[in-house]
Amino acid sequence: MGEYQEYQFLKDVEGKILIDNLVRSPGSKVKKLVAADTKSFSSLVNPKDDSLVNDRHAICGQSDVDRAVASAHKAFRGPWSQISGAQRGAIMFRWADLLEKNAGEAAYYESICSGRPVGQMVKEIPWIARVIRYYAGWCDKLEGDSMNDDDGFYKIVRHEPLGVCTGITPWNGPMMVLSLKAAPALATGNTFILKPPELSPLSSLFASHLLGQAGAPEGVLNVVTGDGSTGALLAGHMRIQKVSFTGSVPTGRKIAAAANESNMKRVTLELGGKSPALVFADADLTDAISWLTRGITQNTGQACIASSRVYVEESIADELIQAIQTNFEAANFNLGNDPQDHKTTYGPLISKAQKQRVSAFIEQGKKDASLVVGGAQTTESGNYISPVIFKNPSPDATIYKEEIFGPVLCIQTFKTEDEAVTRANDSVFGLAAYVFTRDVKRVLRVSKALEAGLVGVNAGVALFPNAPFGGYKTSGVGKELGRYALDDYQNTKTIFIGTHSDAAFWANKKGV
Ligand code: NAD
Repeated sequence: MGEYQEYQFLKDVEGKILIDNLVRSPGSKVKKLVAADTKSFSSLVNPKDDSLVNDRHAICGQSDVDRAVASAHKAFRGPWSQISGAQRGAIMFRWADLLEKNAGEAAYYESICSGRPVGQMVKEIPWIARVIRYYAGWCDKLEGDSMNDDDGFYKIVRHEPLGVCTGITPWNGPMMVLSLKAAPALATGNTFILKPPELSPLSSLFASHLLGQAGAPEGVLNVVTGDGSTGALLAGHMRIQKVSFTGSVPTGRKIAAAANESNMKRVTLELGGKSPALVFADADLTDAISWLTRGITQNTGQACIASSRVYVEESIADELIQAIQTNFEAANFNLGNDPQDHKTTYGPLISKAQKQRVSAFIEQGKKDASLVVGGAQTTESGNYISPVIFKNPSPDATIYKEEIFGPVLCIQTFKTEDEAVTRANDSVFGLAAYVFTRDVKRVLRVSKALEAGLVGVNAGVALFPNAPFGGYKTSGVGKELGRYALDDYQNTKTIFIGTHSDAAFWANKKGV
């Protein structure tokens, strides 16, 4: 056990972070953590040096999942539906405040499992709090509808919560993804079961625990730890009404199938990407270089909206490539730096397996493209790889077509706008795209033509609490963030009331 023991949350559960079947009863000082039935455990490892963080990460099984579902149903039928929207909102506002207040501790839990630099995490947490506050604000503003009774029926349209929803999340930003799913679910009156990623579950457990401190009734947000087997039990559960998943395309397919084969629960899928960035000769190059460097080095390239394919107009290609190369070489000096140090900006990859996977892509890439820079690794311990540029890969190269989820950038040159747009769209993915140009007419043409759910103009990787996010093509189904996400957590019911019982009235309404 390492220095994280000094933190209160882990000390309380003595390393046995099992089902956090939250939550404190309002006013209670006693935290409610529930030991799992499972006898199956995995280990959490710090990617900076492979040191053990915890060897009792519970892989929850059927009875654990069933207990969480029962707890969530009890809260849904009971206290969560008995309080007003304003009261729900107040709890969520307090949750956001607590998360910000405890940002250092939350960042630490995420960093020790994932290698994400704590300095970046503490900047991300206020954004997560904004997402929670955005949805907290909706709690007392959810409305229905009504239609005229000119046909003899007065119609009332109600929006109702679905019931128990689940979220299955990835390791590259688990606390952030938790907020994208749990906040709209809870705001609309649902209760929630989270299955955090098996490689990095601690920050999600901690953030969920804070909702209990904020006064949420027991069972409103339940955390069931585990791996894909636990996720599959949730996706196929007959008493869960919706699954919202963020992760890879193959897992997304399995989750959609499990949802269909069980109770046809609703599905939201936020999947992979291979997002293009188009840089035209009239662009503000300094700005583009800065965004594109960050776009593939932030989170060590382990970001679904990373700008991993760059198309640059031929006349400025050398200048752009040289500048990004210089930035990448500077990042090399960070190899092996401690992600738990606030000054570190570039961390390791999440796991040995991910390092091997990215290395294999790079080795293959050397055969399919010209390597400009990068690929250096730490040899002794830790999963560090320096950022890579490949120039002009062949169109069928795996580094060019597949999502690598690491710091590997493919740069191709183009001559015309049509060529750039056609190549950008030639992908099974459609999550995000970016355009750098000063020409307003081109901005409108190109942003319309790009097949992606998010298009940044003179801007790179970014998400907004109040604007929808979700991919085209195999990058996903449904939207998160903004008011669009609210619809996905509500049922719509029409109630109609006859206004007349006299035959004369109905005689006049025939066929109308
Ligand atoms: P993954 O698909 O391997 O796992 C994601 C989650 O699904 C984990 O919690 C895992 O335990 C669970 N899981 C695995 N098999 C399952 C099954 N059969 N049924 C139910 N749950 C199952 O993905 P990952 O490796 O954790 O994350 C990387 C991937 O996530 C990348 O492809 C990346 O692009 C994608 N991602 C997408 C977004 C987005 O918003 N579009 C955001 C972050 C990451």
